[in-house]
Amino acid sequence: MRIARFVVDSDPLYGIVEGDSGSEEVTVIHGDPFFHGVERTAVRHKLEDVRLLAPIIPRSKVVGVGRNFVEHAHELGNDVPQQPLLFLKPNTAVVGPNDPIVLPEFSEEISYEAELCVVIGRICKDVPEERVDDVIFGYTCGNDLTARDVQKSDLQWTRAKGFDTSAPLGPWIETELDPEDVAIKGWLNGELRQDGSTSQMIRGVRELVSIVSQAFTLLPGDVIMTGTPAGVGLVREGDRCEIEIEGIGKLSNPVVRR
Ligand code: MG
Repeated sequence: MRIARFVVDSDPLYGIVEGDSGSEEVTVIHGDPFFHGVERTAVRHKLEDVRLLAPIIPRSKVVGVGRNFVEHAHELGNDVPQQPLLFLKPNTAVVGPNDPIVLPEFSEEISYEAELCVVIGRICKDVPEERVDDVIFGYTCGNDLTARDVQKSDLQWTRAKGFDTSAPLGPWIETELDPEDVAIKGWLNGELRQDGSTSQMIRGVRELVSIVSQAFTLLPGDVIMTGTPAGVGLVREGDRCEIEIEGIGKLSNPVVRR
């Protein structure tokens, strides 16, 4: 099931996206699916008549995972970390489908990173790997935009990974996905730049959620970005990033400078 967050007139709504590509419809659901379950209303819209929003604005955090693909670690001259390399992005970094990625003034080297994102469905802590599926609401596409120059010059990654618009999410949350071997693709201006699979992860999705939950209590709506495959590169004003994950859909965002 694909759960989207969107606006038709004013207030954001949640809905179920159904139908074939190009002719999808959205059925509005009652309330917030993270707390009230998924209950349909009688109201339907054509997908093309709504504006999709980020499918979730995390109430507490986006957790990132650095260097979780061998080839990506090596393309930037880094070793594979012995311990999981975790970082946080604030919820103010999140934007939705087609929202602009705004290049910050303090960096000349912003890179795209196509990533599978886990959306947490239940409050949890110290989750064993075999029970991780119980705490996952679903999966979405994400772009872990990174100020590569600032990542090197600052002592930690807060500015480099957490600036406004550095975490586009969407287009919706797919609640039924086996995350162990799905394709992750990233395009820049229509040119395929990243072409990997979750099967290439050093630590798989379920292991990562378990590891993250040892450090942080996870709340409904928290997001874990699970790392990017090789092929990252810089973006410029006027570019468009597209991230497609098999079984979910495609997230597209323009790049602007203000
Ligand atoms: Mg990343």
